[in-house]
Amino acid sequence: MTENFRDVLLRGERLVADGATGTNYQARGLARGQAPEEWLFQEPDKVTGLHRDFIQAGSNVILTNTFGGTAMRLAHAGLENDAANVNRRAVELARNAINGERAWVAGSIGPSGALLEPFGTLTRDEAIAQFAAQARALVDGGVDLLIIETQFDMGEATAAFEGARSVTDLPIILSFSFDMGTNTMMGLKAGQVAKEVTALGADMVGVNCGRSLDENFINLQEMRAATHLPIWMKPNAGLPRMTDDDIAMYDVTPEMMGEAAARWLEAGAQIVGGCCGTSPEHLRSIAHAVEASRVRA
Ligand SMILES: [Zn+2]
Repeated sequence: MTENFRDVLLRGERLVADGATGTNYQARGLARGQAPEEWLFQEPDKVTGLHRDFIQAGSNVILTNTFGGTAMRLAHAGLENDAANVNRRAVELARNAINGERAWVAGSIGPSGALLEPFGTLTRDEAIAQFAAQARALVDGGVDLLIIETQFDMGEATAAFEGARSVTDLPIILSFSFDMGTNTMMGLKAGQVAKEVTALGADMVGVNCGRSLDENFINLQEMRAATHLPIWMKPNAGLPRMTDDDIAMYDVTPEMMGEAAARWLEAGAQIVGGCCGTSPEHLRSIAHAVEASRVRA
């Protein structure tokens, strides 16, 4: 039986999250424009296989393949009437992949894909209902925690948190993508994000995806200065270059990612992993950095 995730978090143990879902699925045959969640039913062995590859690389916080798992976002793949089943199935596959290893399942909740009023047409109540329904299905499936990730708008992030918190007392992490470098698309800065997330009562705040390792390091430092909450750090391997064959190439090597991870830990991150462009090899390198930091501690 794996220990309670909140206990592990509160005693400050450093953990390794996983790497990218989308870019690794694409490398394993996911068609452009296909929703990753479709693979839960079409290619379950590949879903479990990527989870296993990350666990073997040293990851111990595994994210479910449910980034686009709100009913409104699943509508793009025609799965909106099957949303609860999508989320429960994703937890089951992650749980199977863990297979007795010391690891926890984090239910991934990404943006709804729509903008909240007044920028778009999604009402706050509808957003809360969408996120609450997804969180409930993930919790019913048996997750250990929830990660509301790649947020950029505080209105949507707080709606997601409120929806998720209305159905569970499990730990909830809120992480933001600073797509403009040191601002989110809606202009939020990391220090401000950290303060607001702390006031909300989330268990952990963090950085994911974004633009470059250097900029994300600044975001991490700004968060560390603004909150006492534990920090989650899961940046991308920089932005991709597109080849002539329309393949995304990432220039950050596993070795570079491992060196960066050592700096994140020194700067106060507690759970570290990778976003777009990070393969199991990148995660192996990050896991080595965590291990080395434990030896030094
Ligand atoms: Zn990403």
